[in-house]
Amino acid sequence: MESSSIRESIPSMELMGEVEHYHLHFPANTKIHNNSPSTTTIEELLECPVCTNSMYPPIHQCQNGHTLCSTCKIKVHNRCPTCREELGDIRSLALEKVAESLELPCKYCSLGCMELFPYYCKIKHEAVCNFRPYNCPYASSDCCIVGDISFLIAHLRNDHKVDMHSGCTFNHRYVKSDPREVENATWMLTVFHCFGQYFCLHFEAFHLGMAPVYMAFLRFMGDEREASNYCCSLEVGGNRRKLIWEGSPRSIRDSHKKVRDSHDGLIVQRSLALYFSGGDRKELKLRITGRIWKEQQNPEGGAFISNICSYA
Ligand SMILES: [Zn+2]
Ligand SMILES: [Zn+2]
Ligand SMILES: [Zn+2]
Ligand SMILES: [Zn+2]
Repeated sequence: MESSSIRESIPSMELMGEVEHYHLHFPANTKIHNNSPSTTTIEELLECPVCTNSMYPPIHQCQNGHTLCSTCKIKVHNRCPTCREELGDIRSLALEKVAESLELPCKYCSLGCMELFPYYCKIKHEAVCNFRPYNCPYASSDCCIVGDISFLIAHLRNDHKVDMHSGCTFNHRYVKSDPREVENATWMLTVFHCFGQYFCLHFEAFHLGMAPVYMAFLRFMGDEREASNYCCSLEVGGNRRKLIWEGSPRSIRDSHKKVRDSHDGLIVQRSLALYFSGGDRKELKLRITGRIWKEQQNPEGGAFISNICSYA
């Protein structure tokens, strides 16, 4: 009670002066000016001190109140990593409740995701957030670069020396001097820029079961929803024969391997490929041509019409 009587004895003007003092020396986002408790502090409380991941129920605590996540609890052999006391089996129900009341921004908010999520839904959302960065579409497994599309375009150009083309049609020739050799990792990537978007054209040779095949497929540098707005055709031919594939490009959210293994593209058996190549079958010369076009959803029928028709 003594402290309160001292407070009361301070003249109101002097107290206001003290508040002014805070205004001058603390940035606007400090606790003093916030009616709600600072979320950073609660977020920090919800961070496991051992693995630094966010903690989810059951959150454990030692008898001195130090918390840790359930994964780490198993690893610390019943000793609190903070105070070394025996850990026991105490659940931090209060902290679990506090977490439940929290609404936090998506971790990709700096990339444009403006939504707030209840603490326990945040991780689930982030795994499928439309603003999450993309993996590098280059087919090599040792590249772990992630980023937005413009960042990845610069990365493909500068670090992988990928060919960049503008326009919605393409005409590529793949020549291989020894077509008997089909390694699983023979592949090429070309990037096309059209409709303000980027598309990856993959070409590779691999074994489909026992049969050596060549495959061309297209991936869209954006999410699945956007990818479905586009169509593409891939053609390979020669020697008065032609094979055509038509469909929607896949999103680069689907890995290169996933698309390849689902056979979602133009696949040519080696024997036919050599036929297309003509000549003495000693050299593989495949000409892949293709076109990308945009489709628009008909707002009434829900059917797809091509943008060529929509101008009529
Ligand atoms: Zn942990
Ligand atoms: Zn402890
Ligand atoms: Zn998000
Ligand atoms: Zn890369």
